[in-house]
Amino acid sequence: MTNVNASTSSRLSALTPSKVCNACKTRKPLGHFHRKSESKDGFQGRCKACHKARQRDWVNSSAPSRQTIGEIQLSTEQREKMYIDVIRRMALTGIMSTTTANEALKRVMS
Ligand SMILES: [Zn+2]
Repeated sequence: MTNVNASTSSRLSALTPSKVCNACKTRKPLGHFHRKSESKDGFQGRCKACHKARQRDWVNSSAPSRQTIGEIQLSTEQREKMYIDVIRRMALTGIMSTTTANEALKRVMS
């Protein structure tokens, strides 16, 4: 009888759509990946955790080289962090689609 539970759970996990993150090489349920309409399977190659980590690294490493943007009083780094945070929140709450958010992020980082 204990086998019933085991086979049910393995069948469930086989049915749960998942993919391997190409950054941390871990198999995760699709809920751990951002959607990406241009991609073959409809999801980004990196999981949300890796995506976030990479974005943070990117901002930290690139911010010091970008000192002058307009007449905004905040430092470039502060401004980018605020902007990225807002975009990310909008994407997470569904106000902004992930695609739009990514485009906006690309624009602010370019
Ligand atoms: Zn990952």
